[in-house]
Amino acid sequence: MLRIGLAMLQGARHEHVEALLHASHEVGVEIEIVELRKSSEIDSGISALILPGGESTAMRKASQSESLLDGIFSWMDNHPERPVLGTCAGAILLSNPGEEKSPYISVDISRNAWGRQRQSFEAPVNVSLQTPDYSSTDELQLQRDKFNHKPLNISHEAASTNLEFYPGVFIRAPRFITESIKCTTIATLEDEIVGVLDGNKLALTFHPELTLDRRFHRWLIVNAMNSIS
Ligand code: GLN
Repeated sequence: MLRIGLAMLQGARHEHVEALLHASHEVGVEIEIVELRKSSEIDSGISALILPGGESTAMRKASQSESLLDGIFSWMDNHPERPVLGTCAGAILLSNPGEEKSPYISVDISRNAWGRQRQSFEAPVNVSLQTPDYSSTDELQLQRDKFNHKPLNISHEAASTNLEFYPGVFIRAPRFITESIKCTTIATLEDEIVGVLDGNKLALTFHPELTLDRRFHRWLIVNAMNSIS
């Protein structure tokens, strides 16, 4: 079974679990989600990885006691071909893994560059990445948490199936520095580049896990399959 690592650093993790389960159902590939809390939980059997959004400074601090980030970076160094999805703060970590390390994506990023939390917004994003379609038409029931709460469908536009635009949810989002981009642009918001692909590493400044359109999670699963076969 395909094992997908999810860094449980801080921030929007459970929504990624949800999105991965749906995406796995949509492409008909069984997955096991490996929740990573300490570096010893990372092993070479993980075929893909998600670095979620949150607060990158808090993530760096939170990971210190269990060296989770160091473990994740070593895993990426040892398996450069395996796909990684970095969203928002996750994109920041890919672009700037720390002083001693070279970036995993060829682009500089500016934190909080759209403004404060209040300036968070939702806007239609144009996606040029080829992502796997889904074969399953029956909708998987959203999982309930231990309190029997059903997760919110967070994005207003999330339920729409307007294939032309992706409902981009930007939360205290970073911005890629345009002149520094040396990899492939795969998502734009008007003239602004909001998604890049460098090898098999996909970095988005928005939150795809907060919508019902799971094309990026499907991309991760199908690429993970291809990278091991
Ligand atoms: N502002 C956060 C940071 O700098 C990123 C925000 C997010 O992941 N939604 O780390």
